Amino acid sequence: MEDGRVVAAAPRGARLLPCPTGDIAPGAVCAHTHLYSGLAPYGMPKPVPPPANFLEILRKVWWRLDRALDAESLRASARDAVARALLAGTTTLVDHQESPALIEGSLSILAEACGELGVRAVLCYGATERNFGLEEARRGLAECRRLPESELVRRLVGLHASFTVSDETLREAGRLARELGTGVHVHVAEDGADVEDARRRGSAGPLERMLALEALPRGSILAHGVHLSADEVALASGLGLWFVQNPRSNEGNRVGYPAALRHAKRVALGTDGWEADMAVEEQALFRLAAAAGDDRAQGRLAGGHALAAELFGAARDPLAPGSLGDLVVREGGRVCHVVVGGRQVVEGGRLVAADASAITDASRREAARLWQRMAGIP
Ligand SMILES: [Zn+2]
Repeated sequence: MEDGRVVAAAPRGARLLPCPTGDIAPGAVCAHTHLYSGLAPYGMPKPVPPPANFLEILRKVWWRLDRALDAESLRASARDAVARALLAGTTTLVDHQESPALIEGSLSILAEACGELGVRAVLCYGATERNFGLEEARRGLAECRRLPESELVRRLVGLHASFTVSDETLREAGRLARELGTGVHVHVAEDGADVEDARRRGSAGPLERMLALEALPRGSILAHGVHLSADEVALASGLGLWFVQNPRSNEGNRVGYPAALRHAKRVALGTDGWEADMAVEEQALFRLAAAAGDDRAQGRLAGGHALAAELFGAARDPLAPGSLGDLVVREGGRVCHVVVGGRQVVEGGRLVAADASAITDASRREAARLWQRMAGIP
């Protein structure tokens, strides 16, 4: 590798990473996640009574967690999630951030955690009006604009979802994405509630609403698409949009199986905040696809590589000259070494830049504080 990319021949004086019995593979891409939920496995209290539907899951769990986040808990959450991703061989995270009490500077906290541990990251703040109205959305979009890009960081413009923003915010998000030369990252038709909301506003659905308001430039990323029709998916595909399927999340939230994604040209795999072990996510995908009679679920991980190559301007075939210098060496199936952009970030199954047990200790501490604050949020 040279300058973070794969080259055809080793440059003179290049450091060698011996792996005589290892399997070398490209690092995996998690194409939709939420680093802010990284503390959830540390005993997040379950709401009583349990949520009855998708909107209640958002209102009772995630929209209370995100309001309780402060800088320390967000940092601990991100470091924990990034560490687990790298140790599982995931080298690129496409994140969607929301922290209504900490909008300004939240993406810098994420970028810093990603940079420290060495993962490749695509970041955005998901603008929404659901807590404080239009001004909240303006601040979310401004946070996207503020984030500086670097060799390992790209920015997108984020929107939470059609059903939590006005026409004005959708138009503004599209304008900003075109100005920055990037795409929009948004949840689309994850649940039927998003579709019903768009219909109440006079559109055929959230996709049509966002297209009419020019909010989805080419290269935009649509997470979920569970409740889109085959025609809608084909329409989005023809406009150069990406889809991201999140099997474990869709199953857990009981929103359904995204059957129409079989009509998309470009689909990647995401975890939607679950631990970014893409082999585990892919197993869930194959299990759910088989149950749904979907024979087109192969190639989602390859879709993630193509997405990362597009976002970072690299050759499309992983490990080919000109591709991203992101690879994983496995010994007997276990992740041994991980290299991102030519930098070794996992060596012998351990993080190079930090101590995983110290990260876990900080997570436990911050999680306890976070659950306390969350309990005080209605
Ligand atoms: Zn999501």
